[in-house]
Amino acid sequence: MPSYDVLIIGGGNLGLWTAYFLAKRGLHRIAVCERYWAGFGATTRSAGIVRQQGGSETAVKLGKWSRELYQELGRELGLGSGFVEVGYYVLASTPEERAAFQELVTLRQRCGVENTWLEPSELAQRLPFVDWSRYLGATYTPNDGFVYPHIVARNITHAVLRAGVALFEECEVQEIEPLASGYRVRTTRGTFEAERVVDAAGPRGARRIGELVGIDVPVSAARHQIVSFPTRPADLPANFPMLFVLAKGYYLRPDEHGLLLGMSNPAEQPDPTDRFLLEFDWDYFERLKPDWEATIPALRGLPIGRAWTGSIDYTPDHLPIIDEPRFGFYVLAAGGHGMMWGPALGMKMAELILDERVSDLPDEEIRLSRFQEPGKVRDAIALPFPTR
Ligand SMILES: Cc1cc2nc3c(=O)[nH]c(=O)nc-3n(C[C@H](O)[C@H](O)[C@H](O)COP(=O)(O)OP(=O)(O)OC[C@H]3O[C@@H](n4cnc5c(N)ncnc54)[C@H](O)[C@@H]3O)c2cc1C
Repeated sequence: MPSYDVLIIGGGNLGLWTAYFLAKRGLHRIAVCERYWAGFGATTRSAGIVRQQGGSETAVKLGKWSRELYQELGRELGLGSGFVEVGYYVLASTPEERAAFQELVTLRQRCGVENTWLEPSELAQRLPFVDWSRYLGATYTPNDGFVYPHIVARNITHAVLRAGVALFEECEVQEIEPLASGYRVRTTRGTFEAERVVDAAGPRGARRIGELVGIDVPVSAARHQIVSFPTRPADLPANFPMLFVLAKGYYLRPDEHGLLLGMSNPAEQPDPTDRFLLEFDWDYFERLKPDWEATIPALRGLPIGRAWTGSIDYTPDHLPIIDEPRFGFYVLAAGGHGMMWGPALGMKMAELILDERVSDLPDEEIRLSRFQEPGKVRDAIALPFPTR
């Protein structure tokens, strides 16, 4: 029976970056079991926003490290990283948001991220295509950007294969049996043994994998949807900076010659099906449209190139999970931010496995035990996912 030091369940951004860092740090016998194909899940359906403007220390640091790690991997492989640096404005719509955003600037600066608060008058000079009379200001980070998710999936898959990781595709994990030392893992491609097992199975698996060993992993899935416009109105410069209207749950970024707009309906319910691909909610799209057309009038009447949905992962506080709830069984989840945090989450999971600790991140923002006493910390800079 094949046996491994670490067997990772899930070949998405989180599982693959974990394998990469374990291999980089000298571990040789690593397997990744993926039900479909590497990157097939939430990872390649995402918008790829990489934002360092998080709402908590963990969120900020994971964004900062991940941005650097994407670029480092591109250099290491001699390939493009897939990361495009355009800057990001997060818009405040209410006095409460304005006050909260200004406080967050201090936190982000303390974490080493370049972040400033800008008043509408300054913003109107910088981005005249936005109707700033609708907003009370914005925070800004010049070196935020986005990744093309399929390029990220290509790079990290290439990197793990090059490092000698055994990647089993079309390999669904169905049972996990704890042994006196380690675990026996039954899959559709045979049975494996491993000293340690990592649950990185994302929105469509993390909870179920936890259940196989009797652990409650509060990772759920909800619909999130995107439209992309093949052309860019003349008012918007090429590689225009990204915009996030937090209060309405939509964001905008460049996409090839055009642009991409992502949105989450605050009334969205958890989706209990096993699907990554969900129905597009055109009704919600039409209801939200007047808002973005009022914010950026140049978007009016722009033809659509593609529209798609994906099941996005979320945790109750939008923060990640990096933990070992039972000896040798680890849980890694991104709380819906797996493109902006994936590389750093993989790095931190490797650290937990090899060093038995996670440095530089507050325990109360990453451990599973926080959900027994909820409400202490929350990443407020997140899409309006369901709260259960
Ligand atoms: C439309 C959309 C837009 C998004 N935009 C952004 C964004 O702009 N920025 C951002 O940071 N995040 C974004 N996200 C969220 C981000 O995509 C996810 O947080 C991230 O991809 C999670 O990575 P993962 O590896 O945990 O999950 P996944 O990519 O889903 O990978 C988990 C893998 O586990 C596999 N698996 C499940 N069960 C089993 C099993 N039993 N056996 C074997 N394998 C199994 C699945 O097939 C899957 O491939 C978006 C998500 C969506 C859907």
